[in-house]
Amino acid sequence: MALIVHKYGGTSMGSTERIRNVAKRVAKWVRAGHQLVVVPSAMSGETNRLLGLAKELSPEVVTPSIQRELDAIAATGEQVSVGLLSIALQQEGMEAVSYSGWQVPIRTDKSYTKARIQSIDDARVRADLAAGRVVVITGFQGVDEDDNVTTLGRGGSDTSAVAVAAAMKADECLIYTDVDGVYTTDPRIVPEARRLHTISFEEMLEMASLGSKVLQIRSVEFAGKYRVPLRVLSSFTPWDIDIVEEAKSGTLITFEEDEKMEQAVVSGIAFNRDEAKVTLLGVPDKPGIAFQILGPVADANIDIDVIIQNVSQDGKTDFSFTVHRNDYARCLDLLKNTVGPAVQATQVLGDPKICKVSIVGIGMKSHVGVAAKMFRCLSEEAINIQMISTSEIKTSVVIDEKYMELAVRALHKAFDLDQEAA
Ligand code: ADP
Ligand code: ASP
Ligand code: MG
Repeated sequence: MALIVHKYGGTSMGSTERIRNVAKRVAKWVRAGHQLVVVPSAMSGETNRLLGLAKELSPEVVTPSIQRELDAIAATGEQVSVGLLSIALQQEGMEAVSYSGWQVPIRTDKSYTKARIQSIDDARVRADLAAGRVVVITGFQGVDEDDNVTTLGRGGSDTSAVAVAAAMKADECLIYTDVDGVYTTDPRIVPEARRLHTISFEEMLEMASLGSKVLQIRSVEFAGKYRVPLRVLSSFTPWDIDIVEEAKSGTLITFEEDEKMEQAVVSGIAFNRDEAKVTLLGVPDKPGIAFQILGPVADANIDIDVIIQNVSQDGKTDFSFTVHRNDYARCLDLLKNTVGPAVQATQVLGDPKICKVSIVGIGMKSHVGVAAKMFRCLSEEAINIQMISTSEIKTSVVIDEKYMELAVRALHKAFDLDQEAA
């Protein structure tokens, strides 16, 4: 008997018919002798609908007290899902009970709309499991120390599931979604994308942080920290497929470096359309200037991603960086009205229509010329690179958003990702 956590995403929970299928699949696992904790997301489109309603009432201003209410609103999507799934399980003859985050409780910090899980009390869940119940826990939500409902950021149900698995010391966490695993890149953009049987934890962490939405980054961080065995697989296979086959399908996130020497240099391509670029022209090139610019941006709680500072000419330089597109208007405003004048910038420019495309692979640690190959491929497609950022196992470029799909497809081909690795 194993303790298994299943997570089902929005599409997998998209209708009562699909919820019935989820219940049948879960019941199959229970009948095979396992203890099951299930973490569903809101039904597809529901979180957007709920946040859209709030936006109708408050289009621009998002104060901390409004963020508190956004979490109270968005969390209801998952609350409906757990209730429905628990009913469907009971219809399958299972004993099942649903809990919202606060009932477990799943404690988080107070950062509304992007809260971090701090602790999970497993006592109640363990008692239910011991009594033979299936426990259904809301994804995406938690509760802070003052009992305010919080949410974990978009895609946060993945993190709920992995965190519950870590707290319960589950034998495995299975992330059921609308694709049958982690691919070399988003199969919706590149039909030739290939499913990976395994992906290393480090690569998955980069892919997720660079925009692959198949797993929320924090879920991968949790899996790494607590060594939670994690697998991504399809919820659209027939629910009654052989459980042994199901258990080894999809993509396993591995923690040991692959022994295979012939590992592909580049394992995957990630992209992110959610960024925007801002530039300050003609700022004095002197010590402290980066701090004078980025300090106030950080104080405004705006995350900064790629940064570039040009060589100086006549003691002046240009300084660009990217921020999340949601923070773009606020950041541009700050630069135009406060930071720009303070550092005597001659001009402040903004471009929200950029994107970031990244190649990721552990093999890049030991191979030279990988970035050069990426740049050659982009130049052959006449795509201009605006910014570059590298780490040991990734190279990212910022380019015009309109070339994103072209760049991803061309790179996928250039690095032979449509071919099975040797
Ligand atoms: P869920 O609702 O189940 O959480 P998501 O929409 O959050 O599902 O994540 C699954 C989606 O992630 C897929 O439908 C796919 O379009 C996208 N995706 C992006 N990059 C990848 C990748 N490398 N491999 C697989 N899917 C990816
Ligand atoms: N329902 C939330 C969202 O749409 C959480 C999730 O699906 O993981 O972002
Ligand atoms: Mg998701």
